[in-house]
Amino acid sequence: MQKKKIKCIAVFTSGGDAPGMNAAIRAVTRAALANKVEVYGINYGFHGMIENDFWKLNYEDIGGIINLGGTILKTARCKEFVTYEGRQKAYKNLKERNIDGVVVIGGDGSFNGATCFSSEFDIPFIGIPGTIDNDINGTDYTIGFDTALNTVVRAVDKIKDTARSHGRIFFVESMGREAGLLALGSGLACGAEVILIPEVMEQEEELDKFIQKGIANKKTSGIILVAEGYKTGGALKLAERVKAKHPDIEARVSILGHIQRGGSPTAQDRIAATRMGVAAVDSLLAGKKNLMIGLKNHAIVEVPFSLAEKAFRPINSEFVRIQKVITRD
Ligand code: ATP
Repeated sequence: MQKKKIKCIAVFTSGGDAPGMNAAIRAVTRAALANKVEVYGINYGFHGMIENDFWKLNYEDIGGIINLGGTILKTARCKEFVTYEGRQKAYKNLKERNIDGVVVIGGDGSFNGATCFSSEFDIPFIGIPGTIDNDINGTDYTIGFDTALNTVVRAVDKIKDTARSHGRIFFVESMGREAGLLALGSGLACGAEVILIPEVMEQEEELDKFIQKGIANKKTSGIILVAEGYKTGGALKLAERVKAKHPDIEARVSILGHIQRGGSPTAQDRIAATRMGVAAVDSLLAGKKNLMIGLKNHAIVEVPFSLAEKAFRPINSEFVRIQKVITRD
């Protein structure tokens, strides 16, 4: 069968925002226009696709956005797209504009939505992984991770000043409901005494050891980095537990929250976003579909959506091991 020529594409962002999404929108738009392909932006993810919230993108629309956090196309989660009727409305809106292919920038939930849509309708989707959690299988990297990592490190560096000055233990909570790579990476980068992540249970023993050692040496300052999804509770619960057992210890809690999602993307995020954006357009022009663009060993790869699942992504065991080595006395 002859490949259909791509003349018009759409791009949108979906799920949680991540720094670097704008750089990806810019790269997709520029790569498409360079190939004489028209581009529509869709506001608010699948919701805008259903509600017909499209706008034509040209060079001037994506000027000056490479350094901006958030997403100029806004983002959303959309229950209606999970229904066939919702997807049918979305299809009608895409068809009315003669859109031949779509680039979705988001997490694996958004890729599931795209997979579902493409099994019913004849419009191909290509995905770009955008999430600060870096938790998608098949790619070493997701857009937003490096910026979030640096935000956590800078925040913890400041908290460490107070921890040391007052002899306090700080339980610092990073984002990561199911994935601990942000906590693990930032914990290593700022020299956290203990890192607690959802994927590794025995780390709580490390916390007990650290507390006991501190009591024995009369040294009680330190950083415990906790991913919000840690199985037996986040930073608040852990701090309460320690305070209940050791009332003399000065434990404080700092929940970093949404500062981790915002801010100007780092050079690494901008470069990854630009590479992935261009690769996504290349894949659509080559007639491909249902693929996520990823980075493996610093090279661009195409990963079927069916493999790009959070659940398949193992934690970096080398990072876990080296944290144990460098905190061992
Ligand atoms: P993040 O991990 O940052 O939240 P995500 O892309 O994984 O990003 P989700 O909220 O899981 O975010 O999914 C985004 C949207 O994708 C959902 O709101 C829904 O509209 C659509 N979606 C997800 N799964 C399906 C599915 N099985 N069928 C149809 N649509 C889906």
